[in-house]
Amino acid sequence: MDSCRGARTAVIVGAGVAGLTAATALARGGWQVEIAEVGPPEATSGWGLCLTGPALRGLDELGLADACLAAGHGMSTITHADVHGEPAGEVRLPRLIGARRPAMVGIARPVLHRILHAEAERCGVVVRHGVTVAAVDQERDLVRVRLSDGTVRQVVLLVAADGIRSSARGLLGLETSLEFHGQMVWRALVPRPRWATGIHQFAGKADTAGLVPLSDRQAYVFLTENGVERSALPDAELAPRLRQLLEPFPGRVEEIRSLVSGSESVVRRPVLTALLEGAWNRGNAVVIGDAAHAPAPQMASGAALAVEDGLVLACELGRHATVAAGLQAFVGRRAQRCRTLVETSVAIAGLEQAQRHREAYPLVESCHRLMAEPA
Ligand SMILES: Cc1cc2nc3c(=O)[nH]c(=O)nc-3n(C[C@H](O)[C@H](O)[C@H](O)COP(=O)(O)OP(=O)(O)OC[C@H]3O[C@@H](n4cnc5c(N)ncnc54)[C@H](O)[C@@H]3O)c2cc1C
Repeated sequence: MDSCRGARTAVIVGAGVAGLTAATALARGGWQVEIAEVGPPEATSGWGLCLTGPALRGLDELGLADACLAAGHGMSTITHADVHGEPAGEVRLPRLIGARRPAMVGIARPVLHRILHAEAERCGVVVRHGVTVAAVDQERDLVRVRLSDGTVRQVVLLVAADGIRSSARGLLGLETSLEFHGQMVWRALVPRPRWATGIHQFAGKADTAGLVPLSDRQAYVFLTENGVERSALPDAELAPRLRQLLEPFPGRVEEIRSLVSGSESVVRRPVLTALLEGAWNRGNAVVIGDAAHAPAPQMASGAALAVEDGLVLACELGRHATVAAGLQAFVGRRAQRCRTLVETSVAIAGLEQAQRHREAYPLVESCHRLMAEPA
């Protein structure tokens, strides 16, 4: 059966960055796409994202980069400083969508999701909320997908894009373990200080703190807590504890610290990574995004990989006569690049833990330059 050029029907599990990008790119290539998203509409986890050059380049291919730049905060530099705010280096990131537009954009997660969601629906993608995949069977070129509401779809392509804790990955028999790296990351939404026009990072004696602008008015403070157990804190303790962890930083961080208000504006997550070893696909089903390769947040590029996955998947399926051949070409193009980013982010997390910040800065820069190469 000429799958790719025949009935091009797909179910995608998860309406995150990877799922929505893949859905839009496939729909534009003539696919009929339905997304099963377990969460309610407009639900996102975390406050903001930095979309680095490769993410912006991918979004530009979909015609969405300018909408993200208009809704977010364009920037081109990462400024590293010591705990007192003394400069320790500046990374100027390559401008991948032209010299007149910035290298990256900080954007609130719900805003990015609204942009991606609206475009997917405009292209005819059906997004169903509150459903997941309960079972998957494959026979020859067909994937039979039973959804949690009892309905069944028979499609030629299943895409598991349900994040680092993917359950669709398990249904396909593709297991991976989540690695914890002894760090908890904090994010708090604050008003943007006027001086914050790029990413600012401050290396403390124990932890790393910083700021990412998300719009003219908003930014998020981040703090990476080193050498800690994976644990949960009661919600009410989040803001007081974050302010306490920011105390050892004088200067600009002191100003940021005073902006952290209620605990409802604070989130705290473990630094986890995942990487599928070997195949990412089983027959006509494939795993993409964080479900296949989740880096540590230190390179701020997980979303970039997710956007690229969606575009490369649609491109390879469009170029090959069968889904199987398209998926093989997709994994062949993606596996090494994604592995490099995950492994580099883990190495940076390790250098941060060891207080070897000055060794981490060139690694960050060289990895961004590598990622600037076409996907
Ligand atoms: C603290 C933190 C900060 C980060 N900062 C950055 C950053 O600045 N820049 C950057 O590029 N990356 C960053 N990342 C990484 C980035 O968030 C991820 O790489 C990116 O979101 C991956 O996209 P995804 O679509 O694969 O997964 P997700 O964004 O996790 O989306 C998965 C979707 O699937 C849905 N889902 C889950 N389970 C099911 C199920 N069983 N059935 C149906 N649907 C399901 C979820 O509800 C969600 O909508 C950060 C990560 C963390 C943890």
